[in-house]
Amino acid sequence: MNIPFNKPYMTGKELWNIAQAHTNGHLAGDGAFTRRCSRWLEARTGTRTALLTHSCTAALEMAAILANIGPGDEIIMPSYTFVSTANAFVLRGAVPVFVDIRPDTLNIDETLIEAAITPRTRAIVPVHYAGVGCEMDTIVAIAEKHGLLVIEDAAQAVMASYRGRPLGAIGQFGALSFHETKNIISGEGGALLVNAPECAERAEIIREKGTNRSMFFRGQVDKYTWVDLGSSYLPGEIIAAFLAAQMDEADDITNRRLAIWGTYHQALADAERAEKLRRPIVPAHCHHNAHMYYILLNDLSQRSAFIATLRDAGIHTVFHYIPLHSSPAGKKFGRSVGDLPVTADIADRLVRLPLWVGLEDHQHEIIQRIVSAL
Ligand SMILES: *Cc1c(COP(=O)(O)O)cnc(C)c1O
Repeated sequence: MNIPFNKPYMTGKELWNIAQAHTNGHLAGDGAFTRRCSRWLEARTGTRTALLTHSCTAALEMAAILANIGPGDEIIMPSYTFVSTANAFVLRGAVPVFVDIRPDTLNIDETLIEAAITPRTRAIVPVHYAGVGCEMDTIVAIAEKHGLLVIEDAAQAVMASYRGRPLGAIGQFGALSFHETKNIISGEGGALLVNAPECAERAEIIREKGTNRSMFFRGQVDKYTWVDLGSSYLPGEIIAAFLAAQMDEADDITNRRLAIWGTYHQALADAERAEKLRRPIVPAHCHHNAHMYYILLNDLSQRSAFIATLRDAGIHTVFHYIPLHSSPAGKKFGRSVGDLPVTADIADRLVRLPLWVGLEDHQHEIIQRIVSAL
């Protein structure tokens, strides 16, 4: 067997779309395919303005600029996340303030947020781990009470929802990823959902190198010029053409992933009863998108042995994250609130199983290997 951890799924229509972009002769950003992807995101999430970016990292950086984050500002976030969640704010001189996660969903523990707030706090950044929603009702209520922004790192959460509301469209800003390891892909890619309507115009400007070029093309101004901070955050049309093909099949992709997720979940129920592992927990009010199937083993040595045994059988499993508060840059730029015991514990015990469209054909054998490796 040779089962990779991830295998990018292609719908088969990507090249046709790319050929059309080629024929159209518009290769820079913001052509017909970019518009199609933006409209799809707006329709699916209900956000007013969805802007394609070249990554989720870029979308988070845009959110930090839009939020006027500056030196010494504090941003509350989990430590159990990808580096971009923190980097986007550190680039503006801000301090990531790390709080612990919930033992069930592995999302930020909303009951610990208020104790982390200081006069310098400007925003809360919930990360919807594995496409399972954070406790957004509580988080939004805390933010409103203290005058803070909510910037959702919804990198893993396309097509997922919390109490019926699409993730990424709940806070003032939401950042999605279309990296090839995510559910809907374009190699590298992302989007910023600008849910605060008053920020939409400035978001366009920041994305277009700080110019009012988008307004110029709509005929709203008669020349374009440098008006604000900005950078180049937009993808070219070839990327958008690829992404549009994926969006056309997003329901099918999500359903197939959910089926694979469900097969793992059912097959590992006995192992959980035998206390060999713990399976993911998805609250009833969260609709997830099967971004990830992970298991929690009992300790680090069991995990190392499990990964090695499966590797010998040709099945590639991975772990993550090195908690940001214990990383060299996290120690330099951030601070943590308390010891983050759940984060430290989970980081040693979590393993992600292969989950990609097409895995169905091998899943029976993969599960047999997993069960015998436990
Ligand atoms: C993948 C990921 C990112 C980064 O996404 P890119 O599109 O690669 O920049 C950020 N945050 C989280 C939680 C992620 O999983």
